Amino acid sequence: MSSGLAKKLPIFSMAQCPNCGYAIDQLGMRTHCAKCGKQLTIRCISCQAHNPPIFQFCLKCGSDYRMFALIYYSDKVKQLDKQLVEYQHLYYQRARLQLLKRLSYCFVLVLSLAVCYFSLLLFSWKIASPIILSLALGNYILLTKFLTPWLSRLIGISYQTITEWRQVSLIAKKWQGQKNELQPQLAYYQEQFNQFQTYHLAPSSTEHDRETC
Ligand SMILES: [Zn+2]
Ligand SMILES: [Zn+2]
Repeated sequence: MSSGLAKKLPIFSMAQCPNCGYAIDQLGMRTHCAKCGKQLTIRCISCQAHNPPIFQFCLKCGSDYRMFALIYYSDKVKQLDKQLVEYQHLYYQRARLQLLKRLSYCFVLVLSLAVCYFSLLLFSWKIASPIILSLALGNYILLTKFLTPWLSRLIGISYQTITEWRQVSLIAKKWQGQKNELQPQLAYYQEQFNQFQTYHLAPSSTEHDRETC
């Protein structure tokens, strides 16, 4: 019966390292298991104090440190997710813009070649060459100065975003890196929170056990 109780009450299960089973009589100033090195305390992210997993409130600042960390990290991850979705949307818009741009370039090129061909066919080289030259210059100005801004307005993506794309993608990469760093922290505090909740449900379940015995 005592072993069953020890499994359900945290104060008894804390006497052993949850990772390797090494007996911990007194945690004292230690924060890690002397045998396997697993962290046995939970760090409060608001004041950095180490807390034993059996307490609910931080010994130093009094905050509900698991809950506080959970809210803190899940808010951060949610915010990063939102920003990354926005970036994905921009990425998709940019791909569409590039496709449209390529198609427009092809269209302008084919049309210009046709005009060149017919002007050479109909006129002498003297008349045709100014037409071809002005057509080339006109196309250059059209394609470099007007087409991309016009297409980006059409698609609904800011032209500034297109011109500063390298910077935009670097920022998104940074966000992804931050998310990858925060997710394990969130998972850690989530696990600690779940464990703590299980411990708090333990006394009522032992009473239930006693009744059934
Ligand atoms: Zn251990
Ligand atoms: Zn604290």
